[in-house]
Amino acid sequence: MTRTLLAVLLLTAAPALAQQSIATLPPPVFPGILTVALREDSLAHDHWAWDIAEGLTTEVGQRLAATEAEARAREWAVQELTGMGFANVHVEPFTMPVWTRGAEGAEIVSPFPQKLAITALGYSGSTPPQGVTGEIVYFESLDVLRAVPDSAVKGKIVFIDHHMMPTQDGSGYGQFGAPRRQGPTIASLKGALAIVIRSIGTDHHRNPHTGVQYFTDGASPIPAGALSVPDAEQLVRILQRGKPVVMHLTLVNQKTEGGHSGNVIAEVPGRDPKAPILLVGGHLDSWDLGTGAIDDASGVAIVTAAAKHIMDEGRPLRTIRIVWFGAEEPGGLGGAAYAKAHGTERYAIAGESDFGADRVWRFSSQLMKTDPTAYAQLTAALAPLGITKNDKGEAEGTDVEATIAGGAPWISLNQDGTRYFDWHHTPDDTLDKIDPVQLRQNVAAWTAMLAVLSGGIESGAKQPKRR
Ligand SMILES: [Zn+2]
Repeated sequence: MTRTLLAVLLLTAAPALAQQSIATLPPPVFPGILTVALREDSLAHDHWAWDIAEGLTTEVGQRLAATEAEARAREWAVQELTGMGFANVHVEPFTMPVWTRGAEGAEIVSPFPQKLAITALGYSGSTPPQGVTGEIVYFESLDVLRAVPDSAVKGKIVFIDHHMMPTQDGSGYGQFGAPRRQGPTIASLKGALAIVIRSIGTDHHRNPHTGVQYFTDGASPIPAGALSVPDAEQLVRILQRGKPVVMHLTLVNQKTEGGHSGNVIAEVPGRDPKAPILLVGGHLDSWDLGTGAIDDASGVAIVTAAAKHIMDEGRPLRTIRIVWFGAEEPGGLGGAAYAKAHGTERYAIAGESDFGADRVWRFSSQLMKTDPTAYAQLTAALAPLGITKNDKGEAEGTDVEATIAGGAPWISLNQDGTRYFDWHHTPDDTLDKIDPVQLRQNVAAWTAMLAVLSGGIESGAKQPKRR
């Protein structure tokens, strides 16, 4: 490029640049030196998050809420958190119903006999051991099912189709999750024999996705299952041949009252016990099909590793409280129990990691309105990790929802969800789906957030490293 041409281009660009005069920009904000050091150290060297996720998924495996496996997970958690040197490690128990999965299967009886891959949705009603047989009636959406007269589905097996696509922010889940959450109740109230849905997933593996649903409005439980995405598409093609389609469905499961779950709590005690608390968490329970690696061993691992990095540096002014919530998957029972016990305490922030282990790409926080200085510091501390601020964000996280509803300021560190619903609630939710490099970026983001909001870390006042 000639100098003349460059000069012309610069002159042409000048009016646009003038609109963003540096005189009008806000003063620069820098994260503290210690925040940067802790962030960079965890980004390069963190091993705690991997150790926790690997240990929990290997030594406990699946951790279905209120089962013996979830109880073993709590014991594992207490041992791990104590071993890492955290204070006040304890379990806060609560009771809840236990739902467990039994035999399951789906077969097309006619016109083209064949087996389909299916799994029961959580809290599904049970078929008899020998199963049930009924004609399939197709709905392209939940709304169409809602609109039809009862006679259209009475005694039949409802099938709801939909097309959820992958998105970075996971925004399809709210809308496309509705067939799972409300479909069974609506089908039951209309007198259906059973309901099967296309899995709420974005993959084309032959893995059905489970997930919770509840029968409300007086609906009696009916068998409710999810077909894998390829099997749902197969069923659509069979239906398109125009002949009546009959399915034999077996979904045997059990629900009993009086089960036990609990939240596991640990702390990094602050120098000022009266200062509002930094609450971070994830959930300890998982669905029973995989080993709950991305949902949500990685979440508890990330926030715990971040707190560990602060603790190893020194004592923060504010107490950091880590909660590994129990029974999130059946509907946030641990979060509700926690808020009931601790809702009146004062919080400086409440945040949860529960969207896999891929990198954090965006954050948002109520502090934008209530503490713009802290928000600017967070923005500056997170930007070098490639994290943008989202001024229009909302509170997220089932576990901290009740505490936030009670007045705790919220923060959301949004993970990239493009791959999340390929594996969510399937047998494929296993350790190999966690990318160690992206996991460390998560830890670095949470460490930086805690460092910014810690109220200052007094280096030298270290807690013993026990491992
Ligand atoms: Zn989860």
